[in-house]
Amino acid sequence: MPDSADSSNLMEALVSLAKRRGFIYQSSEIYGGLNGFFDYGPLGVELKRNIRDCWWRDMVQRREDVVGIETSIIMHPKVWEASGHVAGFSDPLVDCKVSKQRYRADQLFFAAVVVDGKTAGYVSALESERTAAELQEAAETFKRKKALQGALEPVKVREFTEATEAEIPLVPSPATGEPGSLTAPRAFNMMFQTNVGAMSDASSVAYLRPETAQGMFVDFKNVVDTTRVKLPFGIAQIGKSFRNEITPRNFIFRSREFEQMEMEYFIHEDADWAKAHEEWIMWCENWLKSIGLPESHLSRYAHPKEKLAFYSRGTVDIMFKYPFGVQELWGIAARGNYDLTQHANASGKPQEMFDEATKKKFVPHVIEPAVGTDRIFLAVLTAAYAVEDVKDEKGNVEQRTVLRLSPRIAPVKVAVLPLLKNKEQLTNRARALFEKLKRNYAVQYDDGGAIGKRYRRQDEAGTPWCVTIDFDTIEKPGDTFTLRERDSMTQKRITEAELFQLLAEHVY
Ligand code: ATP
Repeated sequence: MPDSADSSNLMEALVSLAKRRGFIYQSSEIYGGLNGFFDYGPLGVELKRNIRDCWWRDMVQRREDVVGIETSIIMHPKVWEASGHVAGFSDPLVDCKVSKQRYRADQLFFAAVVVDGKTAGYVSALESERTAAELQEAAETFKRKKALQGALEPVKVREFTEATEAEIPLVPSPATGEPGSLTAPRAFNMMFQTNVGAMSDASSVAYLRPETAQGMFVDFKNVVDTTRVKLPFGIAQIGKSFRNEITPRNFIFRSREFEQMEMEYFIHEDADWAKAHEEWIMWCENWLKSIGLPESHLSRYAHPKEKLAFYSRGTVDIMFKYPFGVQELWGIAARGNYDLTQHANASGKPQEMFDEATKKKFVPHVIEPAVGTDRIFLAVLTAAYAVEDVKDEKGNVEQRTVLRLSPRIAPVKVAVLPLLKNKEQLTNRARALFEKLKRNYAVQYDDGGAIGKRYRRQDEAGTPWCVTIDFDTIEKPGDTFTLRERDSMTQKRITEAELFQLLAEHVY
């Protein structure tokens, strides 16, 4: 992991590249933006679509045991009562009464300043890679400012959720640095509410879904009754979810509107759930590698038993080394039969399958891999981004920015470049190739500026290959082009058939 200065530079560089090259814009930017909402620009939308399409192909179309669905964003409000979201989908919220800032109590940390065994006051800091170091530094500053004599004990970092009633008024607000303005944590439900129909009273309240998963549970019987699925099988869905996050942050990592790719894998109640769980964790890790995430950036976090919901058998998160720290990318949960049972009880409609062997009905259990498309997007950008010194044609050293995106997900697969813009023979050949390529692939035609500049432009967009139509193409036999490879920057001659072969191999 780079040190914190490097990591914040990397994050800044990613945000700036994303804006400059049209990957991601702030939502409603001309009105000052809206915190926690983002737009995807022309390159971004292609990259995101490719991530989504790869997932769908690998998860649904290329498997015989998974089917897809698309359910509505607004569902019957009873869905969210049965699922537990109305009562429990909340984060602990803390207000600073002076600054009007709001914090998540589990992301706010504090420590007592203990000098010669006595508590002299408190310090606070927000969650970051440096929380412990910041609290220690703040404690030292506190002691110096108050001119306290004696030995300062190393700070003990505590979450604000653990602060006692007596301690809360003594902990300084991170916004003002002064104690006395923080409220006690209270549960804040993260579901966005709306009203369905013309009346806006309690009877018309509905919610924007905070996850896509409930769609799979609620339609479970429909899928079983209308298709030929047999256990074990999965139902997958990709779609928008909404959470009124208290502190959206880290660019698109935690936003209020985001996209999820979720799959519910139903297994027999007597099946070996631990084996199925492990198989899905491995499937997810391999899939992430198949779209270019390096193994060195991936790790696992198994949730401790005592922190799991009562129905949960186990949850493992695949973590990614983001510029701001190692964070959850993909959660794979073994949820028992909790969700189907809840809906069966609340709706009065049994959610069972029939076991031919035992002639008994049972409620299947489920393994749930749930991931955010936007989190994968940010992981992919983080891993792909590089700035390096390279030599230009004249041997001068210059810097290039490159996105080493896997060809599977790169927004543009090939750029077609006629060496000169005003030589018809070159542009005609280039146009003909471009027209042929674009039937199957996302390609760009670029005839503007020096060839070196055009290569750099494509490097920054993550285009794996450029083909240049030059004088050898039209003057020498063989109808070959110069193929320039993004990562190695090597060039070689290639025929049209070989180019299509190369693409077929790498873009799948
Ligand atoms: P976190 O602890 O980071 O809030 P979570 O455990 O609540 O996440 P889940 O409810 O398991 O997340 O959601 C499944 C996946 O959806 C997450 O692994 C993540 O990839 C994605 N996700 C969840 N919340 C957000 C968000 N606010 N913005 C973007 N992606 C999100």
